[in-house]
Amino acid sequence: MVKKEFAVIGLGRFGGSICRTFAEQGMEVMAIDNNEDRVNEYSAIASHAVVGDSTDEKVLKSLGIRNFDHVIVAIGDNIQASILTTIILKELGVKNITVKAQNDYHEKVLLKIGADHVVHPERDMGRRIANNMISNSVLDYLELSDEHSIVEIVASEKIDGHSILNLDIRAQYGINIVAIKRTNEIIVSPQANEIIHEKDILIVIGADADINRFEKKVL
Ligand code: ADP
Repeated sequence: MVKKEFAVIGLGRFGGSICRTFAEQGMEVMAIDNNEDRVNEYSAIASHAVVGDSTDEKVLKSLGIRNFDHVIVAIGDNIQASILTTIILKELGVKNITVKAQNDYHEKVLLKIGADHVVHPERDMGRRIANNMISNSVLDYLELSDEHSIVEIVASEKIDGHSILNLDIRAQYGINIVAIKRTNEIIVSPQANEIIHEKDILIVIGADADINRFEKKVL
C-alpha cells in the first residue's frame, strides 16, 4: 500500500488530535499553523511542522500542498480564514479536502465552495453521546445520514437461542445485522442460520426508526 500523505492546517484541540493520530498510525503528516508555539509543540510529532498563514496562497503553494492526498482544515473560530483557506486549496487542485465547521451556516458555505467532507465534531459527538445515553442496549452509534445509522446493540435473553432467520429481522424490521461480536470473536456478515446468544453485540445497519423498533423487541 502506498503511504498516504496528509496535511493538517490548524493545530488546536481537533487538528492536533488528528495530527497525533496520523503520526501514531505511522502516516506522513505535515502540520501547519500560524502560531509558532503550536507548531513547536508538533515538531516532534508530525513529519514536518511549519509556521504559515494558510490564507496566503503563496504559503500553501510553496509547501506543495497540492501534492498531498488529503488536507484537513481544522481552523477553529476564524470562519473567514477557514473559508478562504478552503477556496485556495480548491483552486490549487487539492483532491481531498476535509474541513471542520463551526455551525450549520459555515457548513453550508464550505460545501458550496467545494469542500469534499465537512465535519462538525462538537455537534456529532454530542448527538452520539446523547443517543448512547438514551438507550441501555445501544453501545455505540454511527450516523450515516439524518435517517440512517450503524448501531451496536446488546442482545437480550429475549432473543437468546434464536437464529437471524427465525427472528426474520430483514423482513420484519428492514434492517441488517452486518456483524456479531461475541467474547473474543467477530462474525462478519453472519449467515441467516447463525444463532444469537444473550450478550452478543449485534452491529446493525438501517433506518433509525426501524432500528428503534428492533431495539424495543430486543430489550
Ligand atoms: P479547536 O476548537 O479545535 O481547539 P482552535 O480555534 O483552538 O480550535 O485552533 C485553531 C488553530 O488554527 C489555532 O492553533 C490557530 O493558530 C490556527 N489558525 C487560525 N487561523 C489560521 C491561519 N490563517 N493559518 C494557519 N493556522 C491558523
